[in-house]
Amino acid sequence: MIRPDLLLHETPKGLYCPPGDFYIDPVRGAVDRAVVTHGHADHARAGHGAVLATPATLAIMAARYGENFTASRQPLEFGETVEINGVTVWFAPAGHILGSAQVVVDWRGLRMVSTGDYKRRQDPTCARFEIVPNTHVFISEATFGLPVFRHPDDRAEIRKLLASVELFRDRSHLVGVYSLGKAQRVIALLREAGYDRTLYIHGALEKLCALYGRQGVELGDLRLITPSTDDDPQVSFAGEIILGPPASFNDKWGRRFADPVTCFASGWMGIRQRAKQRGVELPLVLSDHADWDELTQTVRDVDPEELWITYGREDALVRWAELEGRKARPLRLVGYEEETE
Ligand SMILES: [Zn+2]
Repeated sequence: MIRPDLLLHETPKGLYCPPGDFYIDPVRGAVDRAVVTHGHADHARAGHGAVLATPATLAIMAARYGENFTASRQPLEFGETVEINGVTVWFAPAGHILGSAQVVVDWRGLRMVSTGDYKRRQDPTCARFEIVPNTHVFISEATFGLPVFRHPDDRAEIRKLLASVELFRDRSHLVGVYSLGKAQRVIALLREAGYDRTLYIHGALEKLCALYGRQGVELGDLRLITPSTDDDPQVSFAGEIILGPPASFNDKWGRRFADPVTCFASGWMGIRQRAKQRGVELPLVLSDHADWDELTQTVRDVDPEELWITYGREDALVRWAELEGRKARPLRLVGYEEETE
């Protein structure tokens, strides 16, 4: 077998494929050819010469960075393959956000899979994670790679929110959500739970919610809270659910709601101290990343010859893998953050 680091290895600019001459999710400076797993800003940057990604990821990048985010867009659907300088590249669903993909790289009998961010649970806003068979080297994220991280059932978290809305009818519920992925998932889960009232959104969510709608993700009736609704004293939000980026809670937009129940939907809400620090009244533990059980189960399901771990807490997962008799190592890629969660 060819040494895997000849096919993919870390560089200061990101994960690089020498024979194919491309980078996966380069985030430090522009490159000629990038393969991008998903649209979060810590994986997808503007300015690369060419970007190969799923059509939804390309649409997200265009919505966030403008139509000229790259000189050349190269859409690749799930299940299609492309040859780049003799290296075969294809995408498998990662289940993280709309368009998110694992990158599969095949070369001279060696198969390497880089997950980007992923989760295993069924999410109404994106295709579910798929196991890629016959993977020699599996490169897994580890954002929540500690045994303390066990995300509760997401539907139960949504029921918690709806129960609170029912209980505090004279207050609004202000739900903090990141604008790409989490916002649309919370909305879709509310719809799935039967909540069909108008949902109110901050302007930062508008473009991406519309994009999800165009991509076939039904989000129901959304109404933008604009500066003009701001000035209208007739508009009361008592009993309503309002979604906005957490950063907007303390600015003029957030302060207009009288005595809201503040909520925050994030995987990090599993840490009580973080919810407390942020003054969150109703923490909703909703993560778009695999928790400890999903990470370890995925490694067992994929059953690779070698496991590389990156984007987060590498060490515990490396240790776990070694105890399982697996060959594993951390991959220290720089520039990735936890903020989009
Ligand atoms: Zn992400």
